[in-house]
Amino acid sequence: MPEDLINSFMTGPDENGRFGDFGGRFVSETLMPLILELEQQYEHAKTDESFWAEMDHLWTHYVGRPSPLYFAERLTDRLGGAKVYMKRDELNHTGAHKINNVLGQILLARRMGKSRIIAETGAGQHGVATATVCAKFGLRCIVYMGAHDVERQSPNVFRMRLLGAEVVPVTSGRGTLKDAMNDALRDWVTNVRDTFYCIGTVAGPHPYPAMVRDFQSIIGKEVRRQMLEAEGRLPDTLVAAIGGGSNAMGLFHPFLDDPDVAIVGVEAGGKGVDEKMEHCASLTGGRPGVLHGNRTYLLQDDDGQILEGYSISAGLDYPGIGPEHSWLHDVGRATYVSVTDAEALEAFQLCCEMEGIIPALEPSHALAHVMRMAPGLPRDHVICMNMCGRGDKDIFTVARALGHDI
Ligand SMILES: *Cc1c(COP(=O)(O)O)cnc(C)c1O
Repeated sequence: MPEDLINSFMTGPDENGRFGDFGGRFVSETLMPLILELEQQYEHAKTDESFWAEMDHLWTHYVGRPSPLYFAERLTDRLGGAKVYMKRDELNHTGAHKINNVLGQILLARRMGKSRIIAETGAGQHGVATATVCAKFGLRCIVYMGAHDVERQSPNVFRMRLLGAEVVPVTSGRGTLKDAMNDALRDWVTNVRDTFYCIGTVAGPHPYPAMVRDFQSIIGKEVRRQMLEAEGRLPDTLVAAIGGGSNAMGLFHPFLDDPDVAIVGVEAGGKGVDEKMEHCASLTGGRPGVLHGNRTYLLQDDDGQILEGYSISAGLDYPGIGPEHSWLHDVGRATYVSVTDAEALEAFQLCCEMEGIIPALEPSHALAHVMRMAPGLPRDHVICMNMCGRGDKDIFTVARALGHDI
């Protein structure tokens, strides 16, 4: 490794897909050739200017990038401390950051000559983004979804079907997101020739965590440029919510080698991070183990059984966290905290009232942490939080939680 990169946080993963003790590729022998081919093709695409030119074009004309960096003036005044900026990724087509990554993977699938796209989804947001891009390119789309989630997330199931996707309810195991991931992997092995597996967060076997991070890094790259324009310097603190960790990794990665930029990931604390495990805080309340082809922090019981986790926000209830976050946590480059349902709900309401922005419940967790820290910081401290999704999808959940019948 060149001398000047030895102390870099940005060079991972290593050639085995490891971030320190985390990541890797824990997959069956039959999957290995698929993963290796994908890695080779991605390595090739990554250095091909025409690949990124096509991405840029679609980011501009289909997704609506760059998303604005917005100074939340009334919220800042209200909190009475640090300046709060929001990266407005909720303004993307389909209402969240997920499409940044889906576009990248589907352009790669097209280069590889694959005509059938499979995905797994929990809350349905990744399924909708995948179905959207498949419709745009006329590709077959099959989405695996836990049977229980199919019931709870019926609007997203209907959206996917409108977009032409086939939604497959998964009843194996306990019919959860974890079981849907297993079925998607099985499908991939069975249909190697024409199928591409599109993963929705910075998890899965190598090269997925690095590849998804690279596609989402457009968020942090834009923030660097926009913050230099707005403030003439880099932000002091970055804050993002973490389900699997893709919107967070996308914001954080371009800043990892800027030691003056503090980095905070916010996990879903549900009803509280304690032994009852009614939360989704994999790092703050879990232990290392293997899931979905990589080693990382997971929610598990004493026997190593993966736990489902709970959060008011369906998009945060992934039982693990991307391996790069586990490593950043272990080496101390990033800090991870948790926020409860109640705190997120309060932030949700304040954001609506003070800024005229209805946030998704996921970024409401990030905002809740901003509300905790901003009042105690000086007025020239600059915070940037990732507003990674809009809240239209969450109004029924919020109404119920606030005791309204709508
Ligand atoms: C899916 C989703 C998340 C969680 O996924 P990450 O990979 O952690 O980003 C967070 N926010 C929104 C709006 C989502 O749709």
